[in-house]
Amino acid sequence: MMRFYIMTLFPEMVRDGLNTSIIGRASSKGLLSVEAVDIREYAFNKHSSVDDYPYGGGAGMLMQAEPVYQAYEAVKARIAQEKGEEAGAENEAGAVARDPRVVYLSPQGRTFNQKMAEELAKEEELVLLCGHYEGIDERVLEEIVTDYVSVGDYVLTGGELPAMILVDAVARLVPGVLHNDVSAQFESFQDNLLEYPQYSRPKTWHGKRVPEVLLSGHHANIEKWRREQSILRTLNNRPDLLEKAQLTEEDKKFLANRADI
Ligand code: SAM
Repeated sequence: MMRFYIMTLFPEMVRDGLNTSIIGRASSKGLLSVEAVDIREYAFNKHSSVDDYPYGGGAGMLMQAEPVYQAYEAVKARIAQEKGEEAGAENEAGAVARDPRVVYLSPQGRTFNQKMAEELAKEEELVLLCGHYEGIDERVLEEIVTDYVSVGDYVLTGGELPAMILVDAVARLVPGVLHNDVSAQFESFQDNLLEYPQYSRPKTWHGKRVPEVLLSGHHANIEKWRREQSILRTLNNRPDLLEKAQLTEEDKKFLANRADI
């Protein structure tokens, strides 16, 4: 089972967002667990405040270091306990003390992509840290964060939506989460190519007929057509990706001879 812990000031936002459809079903089947950790519960003053003005001035408020750190310590203890319980039956020594991977969702991080999702899916647990307001005191980031991840070159009000994007992309790679494991294998970004167009019933819709080759039952021709469509789609929509794709001699010949040039 893969465990996600999302540290946030708005736990209900991520709970609601990740409780439906495929991810919700996978959680209830015990394939993964998503736990929202409310940083506010670790506020250390009587007003439960978790933010303060930045030293040196500037607009907005900053999340303070201590509540984030205390929330992280609590998550770490939970992970050790859960691991201990899992290992308990077979292994008297119990949990292996290893700090979890902590991803801070930040516009300053590396831009998230499918390759990163595949890499993160190998972890047994992931801790995701969501900032809000103007962000988080740098000192606690230095102490606990292992990865800085952005969802794109734009600024959002909080890290909750980015965390949900990350959980969704990683969770669907966990074995058993998708009904058909094959469907995670042949899709966009595999080998830097976008997926080919797909069609379902009826054969004709709004006067548009499904490409004949897909109705032919001829598997080799279908594969060839799909490969060519992937290449064309990537060329049109994401030429930057096509430059990184591993094309065969046959693919290159197809590109050179295509009708639209
Ligand atoms: N002052 C920060 C800066 O310039 O880097 C931006 C703070 S932003 C308003 C508040 C929080 O939203 C951040 O701490 C981060 O967790 C989240 N956030 C905003 N944009 C994001 C993005 N593109 N990717 C991931 N997280 C983002």
